[in-house]
Amino acid sequence: MQNICAAEGFPRFTARQICDWLYKKRVDSIDRMTNLSLAQRARLDEIAYIGRQTPVNCAVSKDGTKKYLFPVLTSEAGDQRFVETVFIPEYESSAHRTPNADPVRATLCVSCQVGCKMGCRFCVTGQQGFHGSLSSGDILNQLFEVEKYAPDTHAIAQSSNQAITNIVFMGMGEPMDNLDAVLDACSVLTSDWGLAWSPKRITVSTVGIIPGLKRFLDESQCHLAVSLHNPVATERQQIMPVQKAYPLSEVLALLRQYDWSGQRRLSFEYTMFRGLNDDADHARKLVEALRGLDCRVNLIRFHESAETPFKTSMPTAIAAFQSYLNSHGIVCTLRASRGQDIDAACGLLAGKRQ
Ligand code: SF4
Repeated sequence: MQNICAAEGFPRFTARQICDWLYKKRVDSIDRMTNLSLAQRARLDEIAYIGRQTPVNCAVSKDGTKKYLFPVLTSEAGDQRFVETVFIPEYESSAHRTPNADPVRATLCVSCQVGCKMGCRFCVTGQQGFHGSLSSGDILNQLFEVEKYAPDTHAIAQSSNQAITNIVFMGMGEPMDNLDAVLDACSVLTSDWGLAWSPKRITVSTVGIIPGLKRFLDESQCHLAVSLHNPVATERQQIMPVQKAYPLSEVLALLRQYDWSGQRRLSFEYTMFRGLNDDADHARKLVEALRGLDCRVNLIRFHESAETPFKTSMPTAIAAFQSYLNSHGIVCTLRASRGQDIDAACGLLAGKRQ
């Protein structure tokens, strides 16, 4: 912003004023930047626009989760595609989930690409192919719009407080495959000239693209979540093609070079597939693979869909797996399934509108 202002001959402090309007006051038109001169506003209008896009749909789950559909232009030719964003409020208890209740915590799961190149076999997004990457503006737009947007079609959607406490980059796309935009968005979120969030409120996920991962670890302080799903290399490769180019063993070797004992958190996502990765042998191999790493494991119930052949693990298998990890020194939690009735749960983001 300072470079743009310098090129236009604006005073240096104008950059700060523009950031205030964009990120603190969240105006959606340059005209409303009233401490800029009329000439500055007119010039800005010629060279820039505020790329806010309102969602075209909002599906509301019975558990309060909301799934928003955002239009994205994916090429200069103006191809219209859509990405999905999931708002996940957490209440003190389900009894508190009334239309006007404020959640104690609200996580936004944002998308960073339209579709995905990674082709994970269990993921509906991966089956769509890849149609383009989002800009940092497109990523931040998901947050700004969800915080302000309350459709009048559904009681829970009108909840008065949609303030977001946490962001996870776990929607459509692979963040390390669109790292410039993801790092720029994180920078707006965490800088004092932006939203001034603590990086502890942001978690970025990856399947383990090593060059991007290394850069992310060096340039950001945000939490990291690695999609692991199977500790056996040959089996992992069958469900995650990325294993061939970037083997898990090399990803873990890189992660061991960083200090995870402080504020920054390292977690591994492990989706439970019936009969594929959910027995005692896999639990033992997972503990071995993660030995010595300061980390936690999040188990995810697989959400079955017509597009993928996999089955959900039995609850007893999940409980035994979790208990083995916990008793062998790895903090292991089972992630609550949210928004399954509106296809908003993990691995289900498809953008059916596509
Ligand atoms: Fe892409 Fe993530 Fe789906 Fe894999 S799981 S295909 S990385 S969106």
